[in-house]
Amino acid sequence: MTEAMDAGVQDVDKGRLIYEGKAKKVYQGPQPDTYVVTYKDDATAFNGEKKGTIIGKGVVNNRISGILFRYLEDKGIPTHYLEALSDRETLVRALTIIPVEVVVRNRVAGSMAKRLGLPEGQVLPYPVVEFYYKNDALGDPLVTESHVTALGWASRAEVATLQTLALRIGELLTDFFAQRGVVLVDYKLEFGRDSSGNVRLGDEISPDTCRFWDAASGEKLDKDRFRRDLGGVEEAYAEILRRVEVTD
Ligand code: UDP
Repeated sequence: MTEAMDAGVQDVDKGRLIYEGKAKKVYQGPQPDTYVVTYKDDATAFNGEKKGTIIGKGVVNNRISGILFRYLEDKGIPTHYLEALSDRETLVRALTIIPVEVVVRNRVAGSMAKRLGLPEGQVLPYPVVEFYYKNDALGDPLVTESHVTALGWASRAEVATLQTLALRIGELLTDFFAQRGVVLVDYKLEFGRDSSGNVRLGDEISPDTCRFWDAASGEKLDKDRFRRDLGGVEEAYAEILRRVEVTD
């Protein structure tokens, strides 16, 4: 690799900062209709009430998410992923994000366990799909499908696409992780529209956005270690990267 090429990889040509979130920054990309996403080590929980740093998280999540997005693209899921640019940076297609978090649950955990008074780990006979309105000031409230359409966040056809894609992604990821000794308990997805108006999967898929339990021991290998002060946070993220990197 020439020095110039190396510089190109390490010092990515980023445009103006478009958005800074809790775990990532999004910049205008080098080509039209592209963004550069940079992953930070910052961690937050409980709607930003708990803050901390997970050392190396940005690098690990960038890698995990890149592998999972490439896998999903290979299986026919439309996503925003284009290519990894550096340790912490990924080039993606620009999307207009639909302001809805789509959570899919294979087992009861987290807020569902709390809201409904159910034991964590209860297996659901089929995946439960939930929508949350992306609004920090309101604490991302749970909403129904008719809120999403009546308030104009997405059309009926788009909501149907979100559901179909979210469930298909779940089948693919559940299988991918099962082969690596990991139970996919639940996961959160975000979608957006590309410049042609097509719905694509955006954001990231990582231990920040999924619950992963070791299939043999039940050990938590995700952000719950940070949320619940369980220790071994960095090690859990590294373990998920190690499993994800295993090739079939
Ligand atoms: N989740 C997320 N971002 C959020 C809320 C939830 O990525 O703002 C993920 C979370 O990591 C878990 C799933 O969505 O994998 C379901 O989370 P839950 O509703 O149980 O909420 P939490 O336990 O985070 O309060």
